[in-house]
Amino acid sequence: MGAYDSYKKQVVETAQSLTRKGYLMATGGNISVRVLGRNAFAITPSNYDYMKMTPGDVCILDFELRPLEGQLPPSVESAMHGAIYQARPDVNAVVHTHQVYASALSLIKSPIPTLFDEQARFLGRSVEIIPYAPSGTGFLRDTVAKHVKTHNNAFLMQNHGALCLGHDVERAEHNVEILEKCSLAYLLAICSGKSVSKIPLAVREIAFSKLRKDQKKVEQGILETGGE
Ligand code: 13P
Ligand code: ZN
Repeated sequence: MGAYDSYKKQVVETAQSLTRKGYLMATGGNISVRVLGRNAFAITPSNYDYMKMTPGDVCILDFELRPLEGQLPPSVESAMHGAIYQARPDVNAVVHTHQVYASALSLIKSPIPTLFDEQARFLGRSVEIIPYAPSGTGFLRDTVAKHVKTHNNAFLMQNHGALCLGHDVERAEHNVEILEKCSLAYLLAICSGKSVSKIPLAVREIAFSKLRKDQKKVEQGILETGGE
């Protein structure tokens, strides 16, 4: 078994699971997993059908984006994924999607305030808007790298889609699902024209402090991750 095989398998399984659930459509979005203990990550190839993808199609890149394994061209957002791993040592998996309800909020540039306890616990204090930058550019990489320093684990990318982070790939996938539920509920609430209530600030802070505690444990190698 190759050194990167388990990471490649995680990338494919997550991509296909998210496709089956309707969070990834056509070839939009991209998924990566950090290679633990090395300055490298496994990432989906660019513009490639998720349901046809096999572990052998997954690209392994180092943080300078040099290919270590894989024949196919890597995702155009590889620089963004690499920058996130360097900015956030607690993050071991990154999922970028074009999921519909989160994308709708990105069009009206509406951040999601803290509506639910599970949102604060897993996504962070709020779901902020990352200002628009064209796909696959250094502008997008730099803007994203700046925003992820808030320690939140979900973001809306203006006129583009969503970005979810996790200490492992299972957590990142769950965060995609929580984000879509929050986005739909918030959109429906906004459409009612009534005022939208939030959870109490104190509850938000307690939930967020649990998330921060987990993140620090991952940084120290105490919390188990889905890697090796
Ligand atoms: P890739 O197929 O190159 O990963 O691009 C898809 C995408 O979502 C660009 O933002
Ligand atoms: Zn995209």
